[in-house]
This record gives sequence, C-alpha cells and structure tokens, in this order.
Amino acid sequence: MSDAAYTPTTLAARAGEEAPTNPSRPLVEPIYQSTVYAFPDLDTLEASMAGDGSAFYYRNGTPNGATLERALATLERTEAALVAGSGMAAISAALLGVLKTGDHLIADERVYGVTVALLRDELPRLGILVTFVDATDPAQVEAAWQENTRVLHIENLTNPTLTAPDVPALAELAHARGGLLSVDSTFSSPALFRPAEHGADLVTHSVSKYLSGHSNAFGGGVAGRADLIALARTRLQRLGGTMSAFDAWMTLQGLKTLGLRMRAHAQNAQAVADVLENHPRVRRVHFPGLTSHPQFKRAHDLYPDGFTGMVALDVEDAPAFVRALNGRVPLAPSLADVCSTLSHPWSTSHRALGDDDKRRLGITPDLLRLSVGIEDIGDLLGDLENALA
Ligand code: PLP
Repeated sequence: MSDAAYTPTTLAARAGEEAPTNPSRPLVEPIYQSTVYAFPDLDTLEASMAGDGSAFYYRNGTPNGATLERALATLERTEAALVAGSGMAAISAALLGVLKTGDHLIADERVYGVTVALLRDELPRLGILVTFVDATDPAQVEAAWQENTRVLHIENLTNPTLTAPDVPALAELAHARGGLLSVDSTFSSPALFRPAEHGADLVTHSVSKYLSGHSNAFGGGVAGRADLIALARTRLQRLGGTMSAFDAWMTLQGLKTLGLRMRAHAQNAQAVADVLENHPRVRRVHFPGLTSHPQFKRAHDLYPDGFTGMVALDVEDAPAFVRALNGRVPLAPSLADVCSTLSHPWSTSHRALGDDDKRRLGITPDLLRLSVGIEDIGDLLGDLENALA
C-alpha cells in the first residue's frame, strides 16, 4: 500500500519519522525527545535486550543522557557514569546498588538533610543499618566500623557548614576494611575536586546544581567503576529515576561553561568570606578558604583551584537581613545558579533534623547559606553590606 492510500489520521500519526540522511551533523546535539525506541525485527530486539544494555528501548536512558554520562565520567576521571532524574535518585541508586538487607552503612552526620532522612528513615525499612558519625574525625569512623559495614558515605564539602573530611584517608580506611567510599561532590563539582582521584569508589552529584548551573534542569549523577555503575543502573531503572532527555540536554548546554563558572564562583566566594568574616553583624562565616575554618590546611592541600561557591553565614538577625536584601539576592532553597541566592537550612534543606541536632551541627535559625554567583564582586559585596547595615 502506498502512503497516499492512508487516511490523514494515519499519515498524521506517522508523519516524518524516518529522518533523511544528511552528510553534515548538527554542531550542538539535538534533543532526542522520545521515550521509546523502535526495532526493525525481533532478532534485533532480543540481541539488544540480552546485550550490554547500551541500546535504548524504554526508561533505560536517552541518547542525551548517555552523552551526559560520557561527559561526567570524563570529568570525574572514572570508568563509567550514570545520570538520574535528581541528585536524590542518584544517591539512592548508587547506595542501593551496593547495599543489601543486613548490610551496615556509616555516614557523615553533616550531609544534606534529605540524604540524612533517606539514610535514617528509608534504608532501615529495607533492613540496612546506618550509623552517623563526624567524618572529619577518622577515629569515629573507625570505631563505628562493623563486620557488615559496606559503605562510608560523605560529602567532600558538607552542606551547609562546609566541613572538609579527609577524603584520601577515609578511602584508605574503608578499603583496608573491604568497604567502599561514596562521596557526594555536589558542592565542588569536578572542575574543583575529583573524589575518585583521591580513592572514592562512588561519586554522586546533584546535577541540578553546578553541573547544569542555571536552576533550569533537574538531574543527578553517579560516577565510578563500571561494575558499580551497572549495579546502580539496574536499581535506578526499577525505581524509576530516569533523567528526562530535556533536562539532560539542558545540562549539556550548562556544562560547557562549568570551568569558567566554577572559577568565578570560587573567587567570589573567597572574597565574600574574607570581607564578611570581619563584619560586626556577622557572628560566624563557614568557608574552607578562611584560616578560621577547622580544616583549613587540609582543604588548602586538596583544593588547589578553589573550593566552592558556597559560604554559610551566621548573622545577627537572619529575617531582617533577608528582608533588607529586598530580593537582590533571592531567597531560594537550592544553589549553584549563576546569580547569587540565599537559603535557610534550618527551615528547608535540614528541616528533617531535630532542632537540637541542627544546633549541634552549627545550623542555627540565623544561619544562611549563600550560594555566591558570578556577578561583579563589587556589586555583590555592595548589596550584602548594604543589607547588613
Ligand atoms: N546532595 C547535596 C549536597 C545537595 O545539596 C542536594 C540538594 O540540595 C542533593 C544532594 C540532592 O539533589 P537533588 O535536589 O537534585 O535531588
């Protein structure tokens, strides 16, 4: 039957789907906005399903996601990488890939509040036991280690108070006991720190942050050895955390400027921390580039190109400061945009923690987490100082 014999209804449903071959290629990868892939015959379908999983069929990834995975593995200098619908989906898949009922996990008590909630409330429901420690003190990790401990999970710069655990020493400690080190590297991005180079086995990211960089794409990522990524990929697919093609494509656009952005974020953050540390209305500044930071020396050695764009400020009166900024630095519960934003960990990112725990970890009602953008530093400091005044 020739095409002309079909009704307009059929023709509209099938229109244009066979792409013409073209000798040139688009310079920027197009969005593959398709959820499902067509196979020419059952043999090809069977070979793809039984194969290495690289053929797309449905919910097992997208071409744009695969491009982003190659980019993430290249940047993190790991064998493989996986992208997910959010940072939480990536952390869940990475940890559930290597943990089973009866296993034990040790985590830094200073990780992102929703990660704390995942480890504290969800993993025990699956029979996975969790102990929280202060990971800046390897002796605490050592004391918590049990025969069934499989994973130590940390953030290389913690959210929001920016402590800096000793990643190489913790990798050595975990490996000596037959365990794995998982590092959430969201706050520094591979432009400034690559945990796998220091022994980490799993590197996780909220791609929604610096990797995409413009607060317009949700995503997560895991980088590591190919066998660990394959385990995470199976969990991710079953848990339904696939990253959308559009978000992967948006992230690929943002990623092109990662190096430039991170340099500017880190330089501006250092300048903000230096100036505000001595401000009479600021009680405390948490930033690894200040000599007052408890791990200043270690951070200085591990991060030769800058630390992060994040600075935490304990101010005299947080509500008044936010009001006085008058939206010039918006209050927005995320981070890593090119424009500076403020968040309030007490009521958002660390809401799942009890008040006593928050205070013990330095998260007070007056602590604001400033995500320093790439604005002109004079303009930004002017806005912050005017609001403090
Ligand atoms: N890890 C860190 C350090 C974060 O700050 C966040 C979110 O703020 C996450 C993980 C979770 O990522 P997502 O919001 O993309 O799920």
